[in-house]
Amino acid sequence: MKYDVLIVGAGIAGASLAWHLAGKGLSILLIDSKPFTRFGDKPCGDAVSKAHFDDLGMPYPTGEQLENVIHGIKLYSPDKRTVWTVKGDGFELNSPAYVQRLTKEAMEKGVEVMDLTTAMKPIFEDGFVKGAVIYNRRTNQTMTVEAKVTVDATGYSISLRNKLPKELPITEDIDDKDADIAYREVTLTRDDMEDYDYLKIYVTQQYSPGGYWWIFPKGKNKVNVGLGIQGGMGYPPVQSFYEKYLKDIAPEVDRQKLLVKGGALVPTRRPLTTMVWNGIAAIGDSAFTVNPVHGGGKGSAMISAYCVSKSILSAFEKGDFSVQSLWDANLCYIEKYGAKQASLDLFRRFLQRLSDDDINFGMNKRVLKEEDIVEASTYGDLHMSAAEKAMRVLAGLSRPSLLFKLKTVADYMKRFKNLYYDYPKDPKEIMKWKARVEALTAEFINAIS
Ligand SMILES: Cc1cc2nc3c(=O)[nH]c(=O)nc-3n(C[C@H](O)[C@H](O)[C@H](O)COP(=O)(O)OP(=O)(O)OC[C@H]3O[C@@H](n4cnc5c(N)ncnc54)[C@H](O)[C@@H]3O)c2cc1C
Repeated sequence: MKYDVLIVGAGIAGASLAWHLAGKGLSILLIDSKPFTRFGDKPCGDAVSKAHFDDLGMPYPTGEQLENVIHGIKLYSPDKRTVWTVKGDGFELNSPAYVQRLTKEAMEKGVEVMDLTTAMKPIFEDGFVKGAVIYNRRTNQTMTVEAKVTVDATGYSISLRNKLPKELPITEDIDDKDADIAYREVTLTRDDMEDYDYLKIYVTQQYSPGGYWWIFPKGKNKVNVGLGIQGGMGYPPVQSFYEKYLKDIAPEVDRQKLLVKGGALVPTRRPLTTMVWNGIAAIGDSAFTVNPVHGGGKGSAMISAYCVSKSILSAFEKGDFSVQSLWDANLCYIEKYGAKQASLDLFRRFLQRLSDDDINFGMNKRVLKEEDIVEASTYGDLHMSAAEKAMRVLAGLSRPSLLFKLKTVADYMKRFKNLYYDYPKDPKEIMKWKARVEALTAEFINAIS
């Protein structure tokens, strides 16, 4: 079988890419190991900012795809004494329904879909990916699919690009400590909730080391509750934290009315060094596009799909599917999200080192304020004006070292972002640039240790 584009994985990333490419004159095959009715079905908090849909021209979820409309976030300190309210519009998705809608719209414009079909390995010849060997469980057939561009949208399993020769930069692996282990349940609540248009986040190292708890309302009396903890640290299983602390965090939950449960891994690091190589692109979790601080990855998976769709279309105009030709996908992603994501990776490393006392102090004394967090999560900039002022006032008081570190973090975040804006225009320079990224990361870790 021959196609222009083979997309492996029909999660939000793969379905968005199919949606963007559909109807543009290319022959496209989208495959997923799951049956169609489970496309988009993975453990998730399901909260996505409205801004992503606006920015990318993607349809808002409607009808059964939309479970709740969100107007902001309440962020609780570990001792729950301080609550910050940050306003912002978003959606609580029914993810499978939304992903299946995108897939159906792409199919109406000619995209072919094969469910219950797994990509076993990429075809790699003469330095180019030229398709994949796939296996269809419905027909029990193994087939070879040739494609000009093959896209790895396989989520955290990274099951395609990891089978390429290790010397290619696109095979980059993830350190366990740069991932969160997350678990969530969707249940009904005992009573109707107030403020059910607000997401609630509890930052506590004791109850969720290196991560946080969330309660995301899916309506007046239905919630998605879960937590993430940092991977690779030898902590007890994430479910044991859930069992131990659920009552403290979310007493409103009625576990007799459990609807869904499950866990998965989330990459919480800077983006993959390059999303493209000869004849291949990676998007979504497979390309490490998740926000390192809050772990939200659906919006940024949609951004990566958008950027890769642009570079695929331009590659077809040029008739050139080399890494040079596809390279613009990296520049697009870095400009739209990647530079901010990379600077937030430093912020994440800093936050994971704080104690609950530090966080209580920082939130209560407003060392940072709600506005700083909005600024940081929107642009990846930590402006220290507020903290610097506080530093002057508080210097010599209980925690000057925390304030001093915050200033260091802000400086490094700025340098890191600038390094990303200096991303090479030529793929030949990529390894040199990667070495600069690794050196600055090591310097930062040293500075905050
Ligand atoms: C518990 C939890 C809570 C989260 N909460 C949020 C949240 O509230 N908001 C948010 O934005 N993000 C959240 N995230 C992150 C978000 O879920 C992911 O970033 C996002 O869903 C990634 O989408 P994706 O399409 O890249 O990957 P996936 O959704 O994992 O899709 C990958 C697809 O590829 C298929 N596949 C894999 N290998 C193969 C193969 N070899 N052949 C064929 N098919 C294959 C899989 O079956 C799957 O359908 C959360 C994650 C977790 C684990």
